[in-house]
Order: sequence, then structure tokens, then C-alpha cells
Amino acid sequence: MNQPAAGPVLETLPDHSANIGGGMDVRRALPHRLRRLVGAWCFLDHYGPVSLAAQDAGMRIGPHPHMGLQTVSWLFSGEVLHRDSLGSLQSIRPGQLNLMTAGRGISHSEESPASHPKELHGLQFWIALPEKTRQGSAAFDHYPNLPEIRRDGLAATLIVGEGLKERSPAKVYTPMIGLDLRCTDVGARRLPLDADFEHALIVIEGELTVENTGMAPGSLYYLGRGRESLNVENRAPARAFLLGGTPFGEDVLLWWNFVGRRGEEMEQARREWEARDARFGEVHGYDGPRLVAPELTTRLKTHL
Ligand code: MN
Repeated sequence: MNQPAAGPVLETLPDHSANIGGGMDVRRALPHRLRRLVGAWCFLDHYGPVSLAAQDAGMRIGPHPHMGLQTVSWLFSGEVLHRDSLGSLQSIRPGQLNLMTAGRGISHSEESPASHPKELHGLQFWIALPEKTRQGSAAFDHYPNLPEIRRDGLAATLIVGEGLKERSPAKVYTPMIGLDLRCTDVGARRLPLDADFEHALIVIEGELTVENTGMAPGSLYYLGRGRESLNVENRAPARAFLLGGTPFGEDVLLWWNFVGRRGEEMEQARREWEARDARFGEVHGYDGPRLVAPELTTRLKTHL
């Protein structure tokens, strides 16, 4: 089940709740027991919408390390403040992208600003870095302007990669697409896809009928490869996120906040984080403790 499908399929993969601390309600869609990768996309959390009273701290994720991946932060409502060991201090709001490239090592924190909007709702993704760049240097980029597409009663934002004859300015390392799709008008239309990609879709709000299958929030719908287009139908306004890419082609290991290939890499990264080695740097200005790595288990695959 974990090999990319050779052709079009439609697998319904229910998400599962996960605890990221801070009392946030998180539904994890990737990795899934039956599907660990969609292209290079290897992790997807959907959080909120949650109501935050003025006195609520909101999101508070203390300094923690990453390696071998890019983090993609995308909001539907609210505001999140990012700090990292490169010295970045960047707030994001809906419509803007924060893209952090961990390379060999970086650390960051995420928090709701002291004065925050009443609601918080968003997606947190990881993209696996390929062998040739995964040991590279860390970077952080903020993209306030992304390609906006309007066609056939759809409004879409191309967050990363290529599609619908547009290309996102965000720097990624394998061919892919990440598309925020708003079905603003009621109707049916065909959405062109890259047939070389495998694709998956999650519904954020409302309901869709995709290739004659009803889709609602709470599952990842894996669509396989070889689709030239997707029939998307809605009877009321709806919102979804489409992710895809060329099959990654490398066996990926996930443990805690790390993406690697072998258990020894995880042991070393864990040891260096706990020793405050310069590899992961220091996050300055976050009012709280850094996260402690869990014990290594013999089975180095978490989130399942
Ligand atoms: Mn993180």
C-alpha cells in the first residue's frame, strides 16, 4: 500500500487526532498507516478552527529541532508568530506562506501573538528533502504574495510547485503542487492535473463530489497517479487542499521532528539536540522551555 499507485485510485484514509501540546485540536492526515508519502509530502496536520478568547495563550509550541524536511505553514484564519535559530521573526496571516528549510538542522518555535484574532485555523505540512539537498544549509522564507487563479467558479492559491499554468515562487526541491482550492460558485468543472504526479485531497470546509465520490472533512483522499484532470462538483461553497508530486522514490524514515533514512541518523540528531549542539542553533525570544526529545524506540516510526 505504501508504493505510489501506478494509476488512478481513490482511497479514503481517515485522519486521526494527535497531541502537539498547548491544548490544540489537531487531526493528522499524513503520515497514514496505509500511505506515508504523497510525492514529497510526508506530514499533514489540520488544526482548528478554535476560538481563542483574548486571555487564551493560543498556540504555544516551544523551540524544537527539524532536519531533512521543509515545513509549510498555511492559515485559514488567525495569526502565528515564527521564531527560528537563524534569527527569523515572522508573523503569518491567511494567504501568506511560511516555508522553513531544515536541511541538516534548524530549530524554531510557533506561538499565537500576545494580541491575536479570535479564531485560529490552519494546516501544517512537511515536505521531505531529497538525498542531494537534505544535508544542506537551513533557510527560512516568507512569501506574502502567491499566484491566485480564478476559473470555472473556483478561486485557488498556488502555495508551492506548479499547476494550472502557474508556478509558485516558493523554493522546493522536487516537482510538486500544493493548492488551496475554494469552490466559490456551485457547479461542476474539471480541474487539470499533472498526470506524472500522484495526488491527494483533503476537504477543509463544506462538501465536494470528486469523480462521483462524496468528500468531507476528516479524511485524506488519495487519488493515485495518471490523472489528466479531476471532476470537482459542489452544491454549496466548499474549501479543499490539493497536494501532489512526482513519487518521491526514496525510503523515508520519520521520527519525532526528523526526516531521515536510517535509525542511526535519528539517534545522532536526538543526542545533538539534547546536548544543545550548535547543529540546531538556539531560538531567542520565546517565553518558555524548549521541547525535550522523546526516548528512542526500537520502532522509529511515530505518528501512527
Ligand atoms: Mn516544527
